[in-house]
Amino acid sequence: MRRAVLVGVQGIIPHPHDLLAAGLWPAASDYEQRGEKMPDATVKFEGARYVITMDLQRRIISNGSVVVQGQRILHVGKSEELSHVQVDRVVDASDMVITPGFCNGHMHISYAHATRGIFPDDLGSDYLPNVFKLQAIMTEEEEYYTSLLAITELLKYGTTTFMDPGSTKYIDHCIEAYRQTGCRIITGVHVTDKPNPLGLPVSTTADAIETVEVAIKKFNGQLDGRVSAWAMPFAPSMCSDELLRGCKFLADKYGTGMTLHYNNSQNYIDASVKETGMLPSQYLEKIGVLGENVTLAHMLGQDMSEVQVLARTGSRAVVVPTAAVKGGAGMAYTGLLPEMLAAGMAVGLGTDAGNNSNLLETNRAMYLIAVLYKDARQDPKSIPAETALEMATIRGAEALGLSNEVGSIEVGKKADLVLYDTRSAEWQTLFNPVNNLVYNADGRSVHTVMVDGKIMVEDHEPLFVNEWELIQKVQGIGEDMLARTGLSFQSRWPIV
Ligand SMILES: [Zn+2]
Repeated sequence: MRRAVLVGVQGIIPHPHDLLAAGLWPAASDYEQRGEKMPDATVKFEGARYVITMDLQRRIISNGSVVVQGQRILHVGKSEELSHVQVDRVVDASDMVITPGFCNGHMHISYAHATRGIFPDDLGSDYLPNVFKLQAIMTEEEEYYTSLLAITELLKYGTTTFMDPGSTKYIDHCIEAYRQTGCRIITGVHVTDKPNPLGLPVSTTADAIETVEVAIKKFNGQLDGRVSAWAMPFAPSMCSDELLRGCKFLADKYGTGMTLHYNNSQNYIDASVKETGMLPSQYLEKIGVLGENVTLAHMLGQDMSEVQVLARTGSRAVVVPTAAVKGGAGMAYTGLLPEMLAAGMAVGLGTDAGNNSNLLETNRAMYLIAVLYKDARQDPKSIPAETALEMATIRGAEALGLSNEVGSIEVGKKADLVLYDTRSAEWQTLFNPVNNLVYNADGRSVHTVMVDGKIMVEDHEPLFVNEWELIQKVQGIGEDMLARTGLSFQSRWPIV
């Protein structure tokens, strides 16, 4: 018997509780609660043009098949070798390229979609406090629908795992969006105990540490393990040493991770040298907050000596090219990506948020990361397409501490899969699928997406929500939020 997959919800946006009540959401834990054995759910994606496995040998299997049982990959290989495997459902994957689901290591999921695109470019970085002002007035229901739309976009374009670096206000409520969409997420609560230019709430150190611990205890491992919860002190410049140490202690104690914004301005670097006699990364090492469970996001403003510190401590990184280039960050000059990779660091990709990336598409991030350093260093061999794809998959999973479970198509791993439909002009001609994937394709050719063994997107359509109804709902939420805050931003051209 095949496990039920939610299909064809039309006309309304279903509330997750209704889905559960209707038995349309059978996670393994649901079976457990009912005291039943989860049925073997076997799907075969058959005869793919290529399966890009990202396994240790980086095999690309032509005319390949992938067999899924329950939440995991049961077989991967040549179609003819797997033709005998009996399955409940065969999905014709001819003309498809199958990749692992992509990992997005830094994506503020909850707040930007309701007002995405409102800031004209001439506002520069002054848009940022307005983002947080808007977020501050969001209700639970608004955050749920806005998150749902952002996750819909991520999934439709092939991202199956992402980290929200602590900006979701109502995780309790949004957990329903994570359940409904079937996504894999790392969540948490960002904390600060120092006044900051972003206007983020400042807690006492003790309260901030308690907030982090409560979130980890409550959410880590939820939804069949699809949810992880990490310690998320916002940035070293906004947190005391005591808070940073406390967060690292909690990450160690609960076996999770810690993430920090690490986008170091020259002012911050100068202040660090003046106050501590050390560069920021050297100081973080000294106070004991670097290590193998620490993921630093953005990674701008370091020098080679800091890269060596980060590599030596096993610290991990996520770079965010779409946001960096739009923000004029000079990423290819102040972000030492080729050096971090050469030093053996696990580095993944992120997209930050809907107002500075603005499309949440891994293909765009892969493309940018593959071309930025070629241009800046006048070296066409810098960051090859294969490296960009590694950063979106297996290396990105490593940067999130999840590479034992996801990031490649290998027997025993979680079945997070993306099928690209190559029957379109931009995919042709097709001889080297990695080059085409990174340089030609975009997320619009994502045809089918499976997460944790469940098909969540099929024939380009999300199966968990009526997308158009949701879009209209979130547009209304955005209009309402602008009215409530009194904020408005004129288009640079007259809208008549
Ligand atoms: Zn961020």
